[in-house]
Amino acid sequence: MGKVIACCGLDCASCDARIATLADDNELRFQTAEKWKVQYHAGISPERINCTGCREAGIKFSHCAECEIRNCANSKNFLTCAECEKLENCPTIKSIHQYVPEALENLKSLN
Ligand code: SF4
Ligand code: SF4
Repeated sequence: MGKVIACCGLDCASCDARIATLADDNELRFQTAEKWKVQYHAGISPERINCTGCREAGIKFSHCAECEIRNCANSKNFLTCAECEKLENCPTIKSIHQYVPEALENLKSLN
């Protein structure tokens, strides 16, 4: 499966919210809401699990629509944070990369 790299470097192609949205799969929406409840202590109802991807046209999951990293990259007219000279010294993006180091590798692979 090809990657769909978000502004922060996460791979939206492997995100259950996007998979459930593209397939309009309510069972996967339900399972994703349950999984995120455990992983992120987030009370998100299955109906809110709708997202076509950070940089794709279409609906965004609310947290991603409000994402500080995405907003920052967009405000600088960057496609992703890979274009930013602060990439490896940015405290905002580090909040993701410290938990998901592959996201940084995904961004580096774009340069
Ligand atoms: S932007 Fe959408 S598809 Fe990408 S990680 Fe966020 S919820 Fe998932
Ligand atoms: S400052 Fe940080 S969040 Fe903003 S574009 Fe650069 S790396 Fe991304």
